[in-house]
Amino acid sequence: MARKKIIAGNWKMNMTPSETVSLIETLKPLVKNDEVDVVFCVPAIDIIPAMEAAKGTNINIGAENMYFEEKGAFTGEISPDMLVDAGVKYVIIGHSERREYFAETDETVNRKVLKAFEHGLTPIICCGESLTQREQGITIDWIRQQIKIAFLNVSAAQAEEAVIAYEPIWAIGTGKVATTGQAQEVCRAIRDCIGELYGAGTAEKIRIQYGGSVSASSAPELFAQPDIDGGLVGGASLKPDFGQIVNYKTAKQQ
Ligand code: PEP
Repeated sequence: MARKKIIAGNWKMNMTPSETVSLIETLKPLVKNDEVDVVFCVPAIDIIPAMEAAKGTNINIGAENMYFEEKGAFTGEISPDMLVDAGVKYVIIGHSERREYFAETDETVNRKVLKAFEHGLTPIICCGESLTQREQGITIDWIRQQIKIAFLNVSAAQAEEAVIAYEPIWAIGTGKVATTGQAQEVCRAIRDCIGELYGAGTAEKIRIQYGGSVSASSAPELFAQPDIDGGLVGGASLKPDFGQIVNYKTAKQQ
């Protein structure tokens, strides 16, 4: 069975609660498309108003991060139960900005992934190489290592529900999109790695996104690649362009 595409916006640290409501009002008619899963990953404080604003639409609300403990003295953190109680289904784990600015490691990513599954949340697990690593020719080795650690102790049944976002760090927020060939090559390598870990059945089911300066004009070719099952979109997810990205098959390109 063909994998359903999943197109997720990562709002990062943008939008106040009231701005959230008006952005969702603007975007909701534009992102209608039942052929793909549409997710808006929003800042924690925006989750409740976003959930309310998206009621009755095809928009799923996701979180941008989550802690790996249940509860307690972890000032400023958000627990899995808090997300579940708010109605969240998806949570981004290990975005490169979290790794770079908030000291997240492959090990903490793995703990968060396990905790997300324990609570029935679907993790969108981010991986990606730096420009230096790409130039050194170690992209695939690096990504395979990130994937293997992220999936430690994750069962096959859980793994097939996971979403992986391949996001070359040099392409995030820079306007530099990986070529479709580069993106497809790494997404294929990720699927092969999942196949080695869990078998071909799981590899065929897991959804792998590309992220990094995806735009209305680059989305159609990227999402047509055999191993790219949608995108994780930063900047363009805050604009009406996101509607064109979600409707990449039919939207009129400018
Ligand atoms: C991201 O935040 O995950 C991302 C890919 O950002 P952008 O689309 O702006 O490069």
